Amino acid sequence: MAWVIMEELPLGALRVRGWSKGCDLCWKGAKLVLFVTGKCPLYDSCPYCTISSWRRDKDLVMVDENPAKEDDDIIKEAELISALGAGITGGEPSMVPYRVAHYVKMLKDRFGREFHIHMYTNAWGINEDILKLLIEAGLDEIRFHVWDRRSWDKIKLAIDMGFYVGAEMPSIPGEKWIRSLKELASYLDKIDADFMNLNELEFTPSNRERLLSMGFKPKPDSEVAVLGSRETAMEILRFIERETSIMGYFCPALQKEYQVRMRWSRRASKVAREYEVPTDEGTLIYGEIQGPKEALLYLYTKYGGRLSEGKLLMDAYTFQEIASEIKSLGLMGKLIEVMPTDDRKVLQVFPLDFILRESSTE
Ligand code: SF4
Repeated sequence: MAWVIMEELPLGALRVRGWSKGCDLCWKGAKLVLFVTGKCPLYDSCPYCTISSWRRDKDLVMVDENPAKEDDDIIKEAELISALGAGITGGEPSMVPYRVAHYVKMLKDRFGREFHIHMYTNAWGINEDILKLLIEAGLDEIRFHVWDRRSWDKIKLAIDMGFYVGAEMPSIPGEKWIRSLKELASYLDKIDADFMNLNELEFTPSNRERLLSMGFKPKPDSEVAVLGSRETAMEILRFIERETSIMGYFCPALQKEYQVRMRWSRRASKVAREYEVPTDEGTLIYGEIQGPKEALLYLYTKYGGRLSEGKLLMDAYTFQEIASEIKSLGLMGKLIEVMPTDDRKVLQVFPLDFILRESSTE
């Protein structure tokens, strides 16, 4: 057998023999993230689960960072990020199979057969009938997250039914986990599955205490990654390279942030209001001025913008150019950087004095 060299990708990602179409689109920020329910029967079994407490056990639907109250919210978001596919996640999507089938069909009807849709599952509700429902709806790919061997035959069932199939597992340091991951990789190879993805184990507010109590430590150069997770993934990928014919891929914790930024970049220019400027980081930035109405009206007449709730909002470039004038009129001002999401969550605020100081040192 020819040796396949493990490939190093940006942000420390690694792959052996390639990756699934779903991963390719995810790196481009072209995958819609469709969270179909916060319910999952395994919350007590997965100490590393990253689902935040406000979503946990709640039967809610989210599309990217926004709540999806209606089908149209999902279609609209897909259009805003020019999505080329969707990843269906939860909670456990197989707890709401008819909901999943409905969304898959809806997205395929709207965006065409090429719109690539993958679904994550811990196999809980997977059986022949559900797989039939999902393949008829148009689901392309299933990623299994299963430690329990008793569920492994469901992976084979999905392959037999015609899905593109792989496993997506956390890369957990420690003998027992490594042994299980190698056994799963061998099984995937035996049944002709397509790939095994390993996610860097990460600390989140929801799992931090549990992971620390299990002895896991943060990686010194990272805010979220667990020490040893990447090395574990490298060991498994070497095993995959040597002992199997499947594809192997390591997804670093940093990729999540990167993926969100890529999605924001696709969204920002489409949702920017007339006073918001898209940045290279995929965020939006604008100036906000407050003070006496007459002074705001004066600036509005002279430079434009939008008057809203006693404030003058204007594009960041104009704001920077007239910063001294704003100050001389005795007005308060700041530049505000926000996420390009519907709620425009604030990321950073730059006060007027800071802008003036920066421009005087340029
Ligand atoms: S199966 Fe997934 S959603 Fe459910 S508890 Fe485990 S990691 Fe969390």
